[in-house]
Parts: sequence; C-alpha cells; structure tokens
Amino acid sequence: MEPKDFQEVSRLLIVDDEVNIIKSYKRLFLDTPYEIEYAGSGEEAIEKVSIFKPHIILLDIMMPGIDGYEVCETILKNPHTSNAEIIFISANIEPPSRKKAYQMGADDFIAKPILPEELLSKIAAKVRRRKNYLAKTMIDSLTGLGNRRYYERSIEKYLKMSNMYHKFLALAIIDIDFFKRINDTHGHDIGDFVLKSLSTLLQESLREKDTIARIGGEEFVMLMPIKKQEDVFVILNRFRENIEENQFHHPTNRLKLNITVSIGVALFPIDGNDRDTLFKIADNNLYRAKNGGRNRVEASETLSK
Ligand code: GH3
Ligand code: MG
Ligand code: MG
Repeated sequence: MEPKDFQEVSRLLIVDDEVNIIKSYKRLFLDTPYEIEYAGSGEEAIEKVSIFKPHIILLDIMMPGIDGYEVCETILKNPHTSNAEIIFISANIEPPSRKKAYQMGADDFIAKPILPEELLSKIAAKVRRRKNYLAKTMIDSLTGLGNRRYYERSIEKYLKMSNMYHKFLALAIIDIDFFKRINDTHGHDIGDFVLKSLSTLLQESLREKDTIARIGGEEFVMLMPIKKQEDVFVILNRFRENIEENQFHHPTNRLKLNITVSIGVALFPIDGNDRDTLFKIADNNLYRAKNGGRNRVEASETLSK
C-alpha cells in the first residue's frame, strides 16, 4: 500500500429539520460510498459533530431553535471540528443570505430545491480534493515513501485488520548502521542518495499487503501482516541480507557504497495490542540489535525463531 492509495471513508453529516427532506437525502445517498449521519435540528447537529467528526456538512439554514448560521459558528469555533467543510443549503437564495453564509465561514452554498446530480458531483469533487491533499501531506519528499503521519494512520488500519482476521502483524523498525559516517565521509548529498536508493530497494522487496514509511532521518518502519510467527525472522533477515549484498552505485561520481541495517521487530498480538506498546518494544529490540553488533534482526525472546 502506498500513501497515494490511502483509503479513508468520507464522513458526511446532513442537517435538516424537515423529515421529508431527510428522507429524500437518504434515498439520494443510498448507494454512495460515504458514511452518513443525519441530524434533525441545530442542537442535534452540534452534538453529533464532535463525536462523528464529519469531513463535510450539509447544513440547512432555516431551522427552529439553533439555526444553520449558529451551528456553523459553533463548529468553526471548536478546533476539533473546525476542519469540516460546510455547505449551506437554503431556499433563501437572496444575495444577503448568501453573503451572510460565506461570512459565517461556509465553503459553499446550494439552492433549495437541490439538483441531485449537482449535489452528488459537488460532494464527489470535494472528497477527491481532500484525498489528494491528504495523500500529499503523507508523503516524504526525499524518498517518496510515506512519512510519519502516514505511518500513524496506517498502523491503526493494520491493527484493525489484524484484529479482525486474527493475523499476526509485524512492526519492524529499520535503522541504517553508522549512517553518520556516510555523511561525514562523502557529504550530505551522497547520504541523501543512499536514503533514496535504500527506499527503492525496500519498496521493491515488499509484498502488496505490506507498507513502509520513513519516520525519521535514517529510520524506517515496515508493517507486515504475517501468517506464522516463524516467518518474521525469515522475511526480515532476507531483507537485511539483500541490503548488505546490494551495492549502491552513484550515477555520476562512480561511488560504490555498501551499507548494513539493524532491525528491531515487535509482533502483534504477542508483544502487545496497541501501537505505542508495539513501537516501544520494536525500538527496544532495535537497540539490542545495535548493541549486539549491528547488521542483525532482533525480536522479543518469546518469539519463536
Ligand atoms: P547507528 O548505527 O547507531 O544507527 O549510527 P548512525 O550514525 O546511523 O546514527 P546517528 O543517529 O548517530 O546518525 C544518524 C545520521 O543521519 C545523523 C544525521 O546527520 C543523518 N541524517 C538524518 N536525516 C538525514 C537526511 O535526510 N539526509 C542525510 N544525508 N542525512 C541525514
Ligand atoms: Mg543509524
Ligand atoms: Mg537513527
């Protein structure tokens, strides 16, 4: 999986006080790929926003009690919900009404009665834009791999899947050995070249269901669903040997570099169930790999080899 393929279901909150309008929205959105919640009043909308955390809100303006403007104001004031995109939907299409909507912070304004095709296309376009943006913020610019943010989002998904299908999940931290020496000896650009080449090599060795991210300078994390725990050492040692045997040829200055890596791994659910515990254990094991002489894979004692 790559950052650009990152799939996240878009959440939509639809707010309208008229039962019949809510019914027609339900029909309209029946076969769409969004997760949808409905609110029949401004009060209900405000309550739902903080729990449901919608990406897009379709907001009726004229409602008894708290009206759309007030809902909008409340949502935008709260830093936990202020990222939501708000589309006002109103029968009052007079310029002052529209102007007020945008002044309140609306991203868009649609006239009632809505044109179903227009509304669906508009939402699809917004979702597409958001996904593109998300993908961009999750890519490491040097290597093209996912970055730390990508890793953080990915591990939650991987843990959920592993839980659901009772599979092992290996979290491996890979750290280049004595990388500082490469920078010191050959310069920072050559260091960057090694990081890029290693990234390509690692990515090429991954299976479709695995993923990798660069979470720090010369530190990478791999997430790999695994069938048998014995496989962990086999797979990671193959990676490690691959890297050790590879010569990194610099394209212009005839340099041929060799590197080794140390790998610390943690295995879900044996080492832990949550991302922080697993990371801590993998990091500890990485530390043992470094202290044990580098160019090696270390896991917890309990893991069968
Ligand atoms: P160890 O075997 O213990 O991991 O030693 P090391 O030298 O690899 O580790 P250390 O953490 O001491 O040094 C990491 C170096 O990585 C220091 C830093 O200058 C370099 N570095 C971090 N990010 C980048 C980068 O983006 N490009 C380059 N060229 N170097 C980087
Ligand atoms: Mg290092
Ligand atoms: Mg390091």
